[in-house]
Amino acid sequence: MAVPFRKTSKTRKNKRRTHKKLSVPGMVECPECGEMKLSHRVCKSCGTYKGREAK
Ligand SMILES: [Zn+2]
Repeated sequence: MAVPFRKTSKTRKNKRRTHKKLSVPGMVECPECGEMKLSHRVCKSCGTYKGREAK
């Protein structure tokens, strides 16, 4: 089995992981109920968008 010749540096390791994000982006707090929701989408828990209830 091939083994890496050089140790991966902290910089190289961190650069590789720049694409790894902890959570899904585009999540905002709902102004109505305070739950986390997707931005520009109707809130799942209270069903409102821009302060009005969506039909
Ligand atoms: Zn809500």
